Amino acid sequence: MASHKPSSFLRNIPGVDRLLETDGGQDLCQRYGREFVLYLLRTVLDELRLSILDQPENEDLNRRLIESEQILDKTRSKADKLLSTKVLRAINATGVVLHTGLGRAVLAPDALDALQRNLSSYSLLEIDRSTGERGVRETAVRDLLRFLTGAESALVVNNNAAACTLVLAALTSGREVIVSRGQLVEIGGSFRIPEVMNQSGATLREVGSTNRTHLRDYEQAIVDQTAALLLVHTSNYKVVGFHSDVDTDELAQLARKKNVLLLEDLGSGALIDFSRYGFEPEPTVRNVLEQGVDVAMFSGDKLLGGPQAGLIVGRADLIDTIRRHPLYRAFRVDKMTLSILEATLSAYINPDQLAQKIPTFRMLTYPVDQIRETALQWIDHLRKNSSHHFELRPDESRPGSGSLPAQSIPTWVVVIKPSGQTVANLARKLRNHNPPIFTRIQDDALLLDPRTVQANEEKELLRGLLRALPSGDDPVQS
Ligand SMILES: *Cc1c(COP(=O)(O)O)cnc(C)c1O
Repeated sequence: MASHKPSSFLRNIPGVDRLLETDGGQDLCQRYGREFVLYLLRTVLDELRLSILDQPENEDLNRRLIESEQILDKTRSKADKLLSTKVLRAINATGVVLHTGLGRAVLAPDALDALQRNLSSYSLLEIDRSTGERGVRETAVRDLLRFLTGAESALVVNNNAAACTLVLAALTSGREVIVSRGQLVEIGGSFRIPEVMNQSGATLREVGSTNRTHLRDYEQAIVDQTAALLLVHTSNYKVVGFHSDVDTDELAQLARKKNVLLLEDLGSGALIDFSRYGFEPEPTVRNVLEQGVDVAMFSGDKLLGGPQAGLIVGRADLIDTIRRHPLYRAFRVDKMTLSILEATLSAYINPDQLAQKIPTFRMLTYPVDQIRETALQWIDHLRKNSSHHFELRPDESRPGSGSLPAQSIPTWVVVIKPSGQTVANLARKLRNHNPPIFTRIQDDALLLDPRTVQANEEKELLRGLLRALPSGDDPVQS
């Protein structure tokens, strides 16, 4: 019959003008503006034509698809989807504190208050109030970093990758930089020391071997063309066994004797001594500067617990040279980053207040007994409301983002073995929950680590979980 041909459906698709005139169409125009609705409607109609041609025999479906209401509904959901925020709040129950996929450091509430307060009006971003003249934009951050690290001066750029690129470009371009073969790291997201060096116009001179590099290796490699020795923190792995590096102060003496610079990419860059909180010793930024490093670079959103940024600290004359390099303008940070960074660094003035003020620090040092207590409360609540199997188990959280390398933190987790669906399926449902919930999968079970879940997220987490677990007939503790 003629009416069954796809062409008849195609012919009967309502026109754009008619759709816009309907009540539904008028509604959409009022909410989103006519141009935007028109733009979306055309896409919806194109898709509709394709799906009719794709399945011409499915008449019932096609008849429904070409109804005006269906078309307008599709348009509305397209608009909603396009306008919904993509940087969506998420709950992190993975126990990975600095989870790069989930935005690394959770920012300090004080920092966000400062942002709101300072930036809903004009600010003193780059003006010297005593003279009224243009000033340096990171004065406050520089002054805080002087106190916190002992550095003569400091500079802030977009991230640590930019910091390394800029420092090498400004101080070593056209000359040689010596790096130990044990430190030619790749951080992920295509940050590799040899390639960064290349971009900066410096020539890499590798010395030593993967597991051992000696002072004499550096010494023999220094020539007239040498601009610097570069140390790189091996953030995301650890060499165990027959292994040695040269002490920083010995290298500093060598650099001074040979009149070359000593630079260090610290990766995370601890401002405080984490061994006081049960972690293995990590050099602090102050330590490496005291040992004679001329310029050090580190991230703002790793152990520091602040915004994405790259911090450059060290000798004032070198920092001035770096600031004058044309790439600085391309890499410098905006007032939002500076405002958050200032407030984050202020919290470090009094380390006793860190746990209260900096979420990253609080999570890293969360007492394990309290985590156990929280996990038990969750299990209690879950058992009261679901017949699934929940158990408490000791496990390990991770700092993440190559911070405190290869170290794990003792924790307690809630283990869920779902019945009636696969673990992967449950995890996917939780990711699609609003707000999205991220968990760990291990040995065919779902793990929830309270370390990275904030107090105001617990209720939402449990509600989301109960919703994702099918209720009813499942046998208790199968
Ligand atoms: C993380 C890291 C980087 C990159 O830092 P970003 O702030 O992510 O750009 C560079 N070097 C080392 C050693 C790192 O650990």
